[in-house]
Amino acid sequence: MSTFKPYRGTVTIVGVLILIISAIGLINPLLIKVVFDDVILASDEPTAERLRLLWLVVGAMIAAPIVNGALGLWQTYLNNIVGQSVMRDLRNSLYAHLQNMPLKFFTSTRTGEIQSRLSNDVGGVQGVLTDTASSTLSNVTTVISTVITMAILSWELTVLSLGILPFFLWLSRKVGRVRREISGQTQESLADLTAHMQETLSVSGILLSKSFGRQNYEIGRFRGKNDKLFGLEIRRTMVGRGFFALIQVFFSIMPAFVYLVAGWLFLSGSLAGDPRNVVGTIVAFTTLQSRLFFPLGQLLNVNVEIQSSLALFDRIYEYLDLERDIVDHDGAIELAPEEVTGRIRYGDVWFKYGSPSPYGSSALQPESEDGRLWTIAGVEFEASPGQLVALVGPSGAGKTTLTYLLPRLYDVNRGAATIDGIDVRDIRLESLGEIVGMVTQETYLFNASVRENLSYGNPEATDEDLTRAARAANIWERIQELDDAFDTVVGERGYKMSGGEKQRLAIARVILKNPSILILDEATSALDTHSERLVQSALRKVIQGRTTIAIAHRLSTILAADQILYIDRGRIIERGTHAQLLERDGAYAALYHEQFSDGAVETRCEDGFVLANGEVISERVPD
Ligand code: ATP
Repeated sequence: MSTFKPYRGTVTIVGVLILIISAIGLINPLLIKVVFDDVILASDEPTAERLRLLWLVVGAMIAAPIVNGALGLWQTYLNNIVGQSVMRDLRNSLYAHLQNMPLKFFTSTRTGEIQSRLSNDVGGVQGVLTDTASSTLSNVTTVISTVITMAILSWELTVLSLGILPFFLWLSRKVGRVRREISGQTQESLADLTAHMQETLSVSGILLSKSFGRQNYEIGRFRGKNDKLFGLEIRRTMVGRGFFALIQVFFSIMPAFVYLVAGWLFLSGSLAGDPRNVVGTIVAFTTLQSRLFFPLGQLLNVNVEIQSSLALFDRIYEYLDLERDIVDHDGAIELAPEEVTGRIRYGDVWFKYGSPSPYGSSALQPESEDGRLWTIAGVEFEASPGQLVALVGPSGAGKTTLTYLLPRLYDVNRGAATIDGIDVRDIRLESLGEIVGMVTQETYLFNASVRENLSYGNPEATDEDLTRAARAANIWERIQELDDAFDTVVGERGYKMSGGEKQRLAIARVILKNPSILILDEATSALDTHSERLVQSALRKVIQGRTTIAIAHRLSTILAADQILYIDRGRIIERGTHAQLLERDGAYAALYHEQFSDGAVETRCEDGFVLANGEVISERVPD
């Protein structure tokens, strides 16, 4: 109901209009009685007088529906405004809520399911919002006023006509419950179908099915899901229709009973009053009764409809009620990005994902109290402003997870990650977003122009800023070759760009954002030598002057690092510079010899590091 709050004014106008429309709706049946009793059958009145009355009554009979039609139109308009506004608000709050949900929600929910709730479920409540709510009020008023008028005309006939109503009320509750269940299943099935489409018709999905020749399999799976939806939709419609048909039959045969009983009462003389008035009463009564059919039928059906849409509201509110555990607390502080020096400290940080960890028991990976294993276990390190920290270690060791704790994509379970001595949980999320920049392994680009993609991190960037960033990221020349340069649309997820180009665009994007702290997850996919060199040189520029935590896959990054942290099963097991770690001859040395032992032995020089072939691979001079 709170969703209707902002529209109280309009809802009140709609209510008043409904009352007026129902009242006007009563005029005509009552005028019929006047026509019969005071015009046609009033033979003792002067004819001229009766004719004058007839004109008046007929005039009113014509005017009433016209006025009602106009008011009805106005009411429908206002109704739609309210209904659509409520839907718009629901979509807005659902989207805003989802934008602020923690990453873990998205890693455990199908994207298509989320989209389906946002579009199909919100769309599905449209009927109940625009029609049901207001039509219920209008129907209730019509039914009450009509029943009162009927009772005034003849309470015996009223009881006769409406005696069976309790049975229908009982039935509508039963049918409503069934409809609610089917509706829930239908929306679930629709979400499943949407998720399937979203997964298999995305660029990555279609690439997978094409490259594995699985199109027919996917078509078959789609058909199966579609058939299920088909069956549910038919059941949903028929359950409601069947009930409505029963009401329809009842109301169609009811006048026959009224005529039978009224005729019998009339003939036996039990119906009180002037026989001429009795004719008018019976005609007016059956007219009123026919007026009851639709509103009463709809009212009985409304329960069924509301139950259906409650299933949809349940699904919408299930998301809206989801807790957002990564939020700003009351005293969270705003940090101006320019004031941040970029000192990072992880102090005895422990973290585990919600689901059981895939690790086996191990001395290195102590179990947490609730039996789950820690993904990050007691990590402790510090990076001075401007330093480059390289994280290396086996796959699944927790390197990515460790970096996620700084921008609060996940919150630590114990210990704290701090920036300039402030716990990241005490920094407002918006500030944190400005301070920490990320270049992820897989570059995500929106299907928009290069310009829009680049200025995502800094909407105020001028053309000069864009050019400077693109040049620094070694992508400017490539952009110039594109059909529309900066205005070229990059295609769904940037599929029109090559892997190396996407990486360089991502680097340009983060240069424009200019964060004090950079998290860099180096891509593992190999690029050709030329492209690799362009990316490396771009990376060298972007890390310059920022504290960087790099999940390092490139020798150049590792060599340029001020500290290398070797992570295994959530713990730092070795730390130091490249030279120190080689000398130690432990896990890092083994990794180095395994991955980079192609003879490209390095020596440190003023400009960075020199490979055996004499090439300078890092221009960065560590502090
Ligand atoms: P790689 O070098 O292969 O990227 P990594 O060192 O970055 O590996 P993480 O991605 O941090 O490793 O993963 C650490 C462990 O946590 C892995 O075993 C992984 O399966 C698990 N993990 C990662 N993400 C989640 C998640 N959202 N929910 C549950 N477990 C997860």
